[in-house]
Amino acid sequence: MEEYLRRVYPGSAEDFFKKAQEAMLSGQKMFVVTANPEILMSAGKNEAARELLLCEETEIVPDGISVVKAMEMLGLPVTERITGVDLAEKLLHSAGRAGRSVYLLGAKEEVVSALAKKLRAHYPSMDLRYHNGYDGDKDSIMKEIALLSPDLVLVGLGVPAQDILLYRHLGQFKKGVLMGVGGSFDVLSGMKRRAPAFFQKTNTEWLYRILREPSRLKRFWRSNVKFLGEVRRAQKKSPS
Ligand code: UDP
Repeated sequence: MEEYLRRVYPGSAEDFFKKAQEAMLSGQKMFVVTANPEILMSAGKNEAARELLLCEETEIVPDGISVVKAMEMLGLPVTERITGVDLAEKLLHSAGRAGRSVYLLGAKEEVVSALAKKLRAHYPSMDLRYHNGYDGDKDSIMKEIALLSPDLVLVGLGVPAQDILLYRHLGQFKKGVLMGVGGSFDVLSGMKRRAPAFFQKTNTEWLYRILREPSRLKRFWRSNVKFLGEVRRAQKKSPS
């Protein structure tokens, strides 16, 4: 676990956004993984997840309070949570203002098309394309996206499938910020409500999600509780 957490960006959300924005606007390539306990735990069993987390090209940000806490427990430098949904929103805003090209892959058709409609209304000069996350072969869609070479590629298919898919096709991209965004399209389209400010400020967004969708409890238990157990074991082993 420590080998992945050592690679997580230690600075502020604003500084990371500026770095990603600079990459996007200057035609560089950047692959961003917003790390939550789920992807970190999946690396134990899934070779592709492990490889992408250790890849030099991958920028990892701490998406979740338990990742921040884990880094603190291991004495690693960390500033704050950097969420995929906030990063996605800011990058979309920046791409929209600069009239850049964007591809959204994922979520239900009604969700991703509602988000596209909203973005086109806000940013008429944005060159925007999208595809829902349920129809068609994902690898063929990724190949088409690579040919279009957009400045921003957001993939919302859930963790870790979205990150593994992006990583598999990374070599075909010459430029662009590529990022897995989980359920962000549901929130950014307005179809699903994000946790109110109170939950966001107190780092209890996870609690809000469980209260709204109790079926998430099992997933939460599987990833978060086991994750913190693993971090505790790493803490005991580390000399500091
Ligand atoms: N999704 C999809 N295709 C699938 C399975 C899931 O497009 O085959 C989408 C789903 O509609 C949702 C997102 O992937 O928008 C996953 O959301 P969730 O909140 O579970 O993700 P998290 O952010 O918790 O990883």
